[in-house]
Amino acid sequence: MIEARAVSKRYGRRTAVDGATFTVRSGAVTGFLGPNGAGKSTTIRMIMGLDAPTSGSVTVNGKAYARHAAPLREVGALLEARSVHTGRSAYHHLLALALTTGIPRRRVDEVLGLVGLTDVAHQRVGAFSLGMGQRLGVAAALLGDPATLILDEPVNGLDPQGILWIRTLLRRLAAEGRTVFVSSHLMSEMALTADHLVVIGKGRIIAEASVREVIDRA
Ligand code: ADP
Ligand code: ADP
Repeated sequence: MIEARAVSKRYGRRTAVDGATFTVRSGAVTGFLGPNGAGKSTTIRMIMGLDAPTSGSVTVNGKAYARHAAPLREVGALLEARSVHTGRSAYHHLLALALTTGIPRRRVDEVLGLVGLTDVAHQRVGAFSLGMGQRLGVAAALLGDPATLILDEPVNGLDPQGILWIRTLLRRLAAEGRTVFVSSHLMSEMALTADHLVVIGKGRIIAEASVREVIDRA
């Protein structure tokens, strides 16, 4: 479970997140919906401990990471700007991450299988298509078998097949009991992927509702 309580983040005079309070439960896919610039990435960075709130608190299963990045075994993430060594193979990228985080090597083969990259595991990441790159990012997020998964705009730029793949995977991960929090600026996408919605605009939480409720009332 992720809990944000009156969390704000200011960059100088600019307020990126303004008193956000919301809860993300386990066992479901929760969509984080809002236009570009609404504060989604900033909120996600605070949840992961990559940035500290100016005020308020964010916890994951009761723990606040503040400025200490959440361990890969607890929170797995697909972030927009995570860079990958393009000269390395997918296998080596994941192996390096496993070795630096104390995750057993055998897990690398498992996650490559989970995301369907086993056959191209030894190809250079630099030659990967966008969709393959996203699969690799998801593999990294799953490496530590975390109870919480956070994905920032995971379907951006993907073709319909890639979008369907992500959607199916997220639903399965939630069905296993994990907490899945996925951001998007597209209501149409969230209607198909998420069970619950947290809607953000200009740094403020505008609504929290089940997707069913939103569709029935609209
Ligand atoms: P979203 O992910 O919803 O597109 P962001 O969280 O990236 O939104 O950005 C929210 C606001 O905070 C934007 O106005 C953005 O320009 C600003 N912002 C984000 N990061 C920084 C930063 N490091 N320094 C200054 N302003 C930032
Ligand atoms: P390096 O800086 O050695 O290239 P990375 O940037 O790949 O290593 O990873 C640095 C740290 O970021 C890791 O120790 C891990 O805790 C975290 N990290 C990397 N990838 C992920 C991910 N997909 N999800 C969550 N945390 C990650």
